[in-house]
Formats: sequence, structure tokens, C-alpha cells
Amino acid sequence: MRRVCSRCGKERSEINLPYAKMSLCPLCFQEFYVNRIRRTVREFSMFKPDDRVGVAVSGGKDSVALLHGLCKAFPEADFVALHVDLGIEGYSQHCKVKVEELARNLNVDLFVFDLKEELGFSISDYARSRRGKVCSHCGVIKRHVFEELAERADVKVLATGHNLDDYVALMLNNFFAGNWIQLARLKVVLKPILPRQTVKVKPLIKTPEDENLLYCIYADIPFRDVNCPYAHTSRLRRNREILDFLTKYNPNFKYQALKRFLELIEILDASIKQPELRTCKVCGFPSSGEICAYCRRIEIMVRHDPS
Ligand SMILES: [Zn+2]
Ligand SMILES: [Zn+2]
Repeated sequence: MRRVCSRCGKERSEINLPYAKMSLCPLCFQEFYVNRIRRTVREFSMFKPDDRVGVAVSGGKDSVALLHGLCKAFPEADFVALHVDLGIEGYSQHCKVKVEELARNLNVDLFVFDLKEELGFSISDYARSRRGKVCSHCGVIKRHVFEELAERADVKVLATGHNLDDYVALMLNNFFAGNWIQLARLKVVLKPILPRQTVKVKPLIKTPEDENLLYCIYADIPFRDVNCPYAHTSRLRRNREILDFLTKYNPNFKYQALKRFLELIEILDASIKQPELRTCKVCGFPSSGEICAYCRRIEIMVRHDPS
């Protein structure tokens, strides 16, 4: 028997969504996807429909789907794409091409921070000069650079493409580690503590990862199809597998976990004192110490000149 889309009742269904008890045709799925972004933004008051909003776009399926979905959900808003060229050989150039193509298609302004050009070293240089995993250092550098890009682009709100699966796994990680301060920082809307910080928002927290990929395919969105050479299997991955296992038995598991974690975060936020921040004496951005984690890494690279 031919399965018909549960929304329009006309087209053949291609996408099965067990948690919503629906099977959708490609067109209805795209509408469903965009509507969920719109609802999530409104539910958490992430920004106003006519705000100027920066979107961190790496070129991966989550972030490109986010930018495209936001433009469809809020045609009145002024979205700006922010991209960091990490200079990772065999990877970054490919990512940048995809982001440029998408920005052109959507007619949004694109601001690129090129590490090699602006700082004198790339993540590949950084990896060569240091032993061990480069991801956490790269994360510190990216977080800082996105704040600088946001200033250049004159945006006060920064949207990132964290999806439901990653987000709940990250919550679970911090929960098991008893990392309450980090857990409390996983608020859906993270307000700035000091000047020169943006409001961080996550419009995809209710979107499962595989739906970002499907949206990219059906909406014909360019996205990167090579993996970062430094990516490695992490504890986050393993927790994600546990969550996937539980979701097989209860399709709503991740949504239920998200709901409970968000309640817990409210309680934590009210009772935990976040470490005090001051301004870094080198770059002037917020920092927990005299010199921020970003500037300490820059200093190391300048001392061991990679060239
Ligand atoms: Zn349909
Ligand atoms: Zn600094």
C-alpha cells in the first residue's frame, strides 16, 4: 500500500518521524522543519523578528541548515553569516567554498575571519607545534573569534547550530561529571555577563541531527562532505550512542531528557555562582583570569613562531 503524507494527505511520504507519529512528503517536511525553528525561537524569545542576528556557519550540515531555515522562518530579520577559516589543510578551503555559495544563494552578508591571515598561524600550524588533541584549543580560539566577528558585523545575537542529539549528550556529559557550572551554562539563551559578549542562542535544540541532513538534501543546500582530520571519537559520541539506544525504545526520549535538563538548569542557575569574569588585559574580552584562554594560546604560537 502506498503511504501518504500525514500532513497534506496527497503526496507520497518519505520521512518517518516516530516521535511525532508522522510520515511526511519532502515539501511538508521542509515546512515542518522551518516551523519548528520559528516556534523554538519564539518559545525562548531568542530574538525579535526584525533583529540583526549573526549565524555561526562552519559549512557543516547543522549550521548551513540553521542559516537557511532561519531565513525561511523569519524573512523580515537581518541575518549575517559568520565563518572562521581555520586553515586546516584538505578541509577548511572546502568548508569556506560551501559557506560562500550558501551566503550568495540566500543573499546574506558573510564575514570571514582567516586565522592564517589575521593571526599568522592556522589550526594545522597549531597542531604541528603541539602534541595531543587539538579540538579543545580550536574550540577556545573559535569561541573568541566569533565574538570578534560579531563585533565587526555589528550583531548582538549569535545563533549556533547545536542540534538536539549533541545538546542532550553534552548535558548528560556534564551531568555525569558533576560539572554543574558548565551544565548551567547550557542555557538555551545565554545572556552576556560583560560588555563585548553576544547573547548566544540555539534555535536547533529541538531538531534531531538527522533531520538537518535531510533538510540540506531536500532543500538543496550546499554543505561540506569531508571530515575534519583532527576530529576524534569522544565521550560525547559514546553518550550519544547511549541516547540513540534509549530512543529506539522510546522515540520521545531525547525530548523528555531535554525538558528535564532545561528545568534542572533553571534550578542550577538560581543557586550556583558562576565564576567572576573580568576583562583580559591583552584583548579586552571577558576572561576568568588576567589573560584569557585565547590570548594564552596566541602567545604560545607567537613564541614558537611556526614559520
Ligand atoms: Zn505532504
Ligand atoms: Zn584575551
